[in-house]
Amino acid sequence: MNFQYAIALTGGIGSGKSTTASLLKLYGYAIIDADVIAHKVLEQNTQEILKIFGNIILTDSKIDRKKLGNIVFKNKDSRKKLENLLHPKIKENILEESHLLDQKKFPYFIDIPLFFETSHYEITETLLIFTEQPIQIERIKKRNQLSDEAILERINTQMPLHQKKALAKYVIYNNGDLENLQKEIERYLQNYLPTIKF
Ligand code: ADP
Repeated sequence: MNFQYAIALTGGIGSGKSTTASLLKLYGYAIIDADVIAHKVLEQNTQEILKIFGNIILTDSKIDRKKLGNIVFKNKDSRKKLENLLHPKIKENILEESHLLDQKKFPYFIDIPLFFETSHYEITETLLIFTEQPIQIERIKKRNQLSDEAILERINTQMPLHQKKALAKYVIYNNGDLENLQKEIERYLQNYLPTIKF
């Protein structure tokens, strides 16, 4: 059985997934990072991606993820093309890593930003990091120096966080400070995680 001890860690852009993943690591949990895997797969498939998008996405002969991101965020068709090429390969890599972790018979997390949008993964346990939109926008602005318009464009390509909340098994509300987030994570690990039947 795939993903036996896996918990999908998900949220929206800037909702606090990476911060949560770092804290979970500190508590000793293994994390599979779908973004890291996606970057690796992107590099391994440079030639095929250039066939779709052309040299316009290159900087110093390497794929410039910012340029590529700007194109695919604006154009649904090209986003689909890129996803169709990369997603099966990303999933293969994630499955490989998760098989290794399942052998330890201990829960681990897979950080999958678009878990609910893609539904490519047969994982039943989901941990959603939720942030109210105004806070989400402020945090992204600080992190990426994007305009409000660009941020909203990115947020709007994703399923609304309120909708994801209804689908998640457990929700952590990340509207406070980092100490608050840490407390919420501890509460999840102590009170909820032990009740999961893997
Ligand atoms: P994601 O991985 O979901 O895109 P991040 O974990 O990178 O989100 O968080 C987005 C930004 O907000 C980061 O710069 C992070 O440091 C900051 N951040 C996340 N949670 C909090 C919090 N509770 N208080 C203050 N800043 C936070």
